[in-house]
Amino acid sequence: MTHIYNFSAGPAVLPKEVLAQAAAEMLDWHGSGMSVMEMSHRGPEFISIYKAAERDLRELLAVPDNYKILFLQGGGLSQNAIVPMNLVGHKPQPATIDFVHTGSWSGKSIKEAAKYATVNVAASSQAGGFNRVPPQSEWKLTPGAAYLHICTNETIDGVEFDFDHGSPQPLTGDCADTLLVADMSSHILSRQIDVSKYGLIFAGAQKNIGPAGVTIVIVREDLLGKALPVCPSAFDFKLVADNESMYNTPPTYGIYIAGLVFQWLKQQGGVAEMEKRAKAKAALLYGALDADDFYINRVAPENRSRMNVPFFLKDESKNEAFLAGAKARGLLQLKGHKSVGGMRASIYNAMPIEGVQALVDYLNEFAGR
Ligand code: PMP
Repeated sequence: MTHIYNFSAGPAVLPKEVLAQAAAEMLDWHGSGMSVMEMSHRGPEFISIYKAAERDLRELLAVPDNYKILFLQGGGLSQNAIVPMNLVGHKPQPATIDFVHTGSWSGKSIKEAAKYATVNVAASSQAGGFNRVPPQSEWKLTPGAAYLHICTNETIDGVEFDFDHGSPQPLTGDCADTLLVADMSSHILSRQIDVSKYGLIFAGAQKNIGPAGVTIVIVREDLLGKALPVCPSAFDFKLVADNESMYNTPPTYGIYIAGLVFQWLKQQGGVAEMEKRAKAKAALLYGALDADDFYINRVAPENRSRMNVPFFLKDESKNEAFLAGAKARGLLQLKGHKSVGGMRASIYNAMPIEGVQALVDYLNEFAGR
């Protein structure tokens, strides 16, 4: 049988070892006589699964002690409302939220936040077709803003902040106290981060963490407790934190799978090793795309995403043939997002370099190289 490689942007490929372990434990978790799906979230079995997942994620990302890790339902998009509802209360109302608009996902965040605050687009790369992160020197920030929201990896546009050169830089001057909030949904755990730079980080799980349905929030403790009265209790970060993500029923099975992924990451060498592999995989793939003008990726080199690689065929009449040939070779889900067209290869942590090599071989073959 042809080996299958799944390049979906999310829900996305998971480590085979994790899926095999989940299968082996499906009917009877560790002699408990129950599937994890059947366990009470308040029972000792699930509590042990939860605590291990929390501890391992804290270790993997070196999350400082003064940050809470929350496991919520609702996905990344819900956070576009939940985060403002939790954070704008720290400022006199109506508060302002600054945004850097780097693509589709930060665009959605801007739209949603406008329901809860005044929004200021401090910088945007829209005019250039979202092909870079606007230089920080050009950001027009608002003194006294509740926070600055960035999406550090734009999944659709394939634009990633240049962390290797310190981006985002610490804010200075009138805005030195502005909190930084980051949507890291599509590249969390693929590179080392300094959590202490951020007031809050959020990420939907279905790319680098586990199944859809789990949302991770990492939030500095002193930011809890100011939720707007309109905020649903189940999404009031203080209530969730005080109840260790058990204020309501958390997505238990998803948390279990996320926990297995965290264990797998630790066995593989942690985030530093994932970063090394991501660099190698991205270099291989962009190298093939850049070899001549058969394929096109328009993102500025320093902002090219290591996780989501959108590209176009110069001759778009060949799109269907390209996708059919890919499928025949076991290279799946390469069609680009409907809003931008073209192709996209997502190469998350669980995508082995062999999968990227198979794609590169096909890219070369299809280009007649
Ligand atoms: N932010 C980013 C960066 C994303 O890639 C996505 C999903 N593709 C979302 C937010 C929205 O996540 P969800 O579909 O879980 O609401």
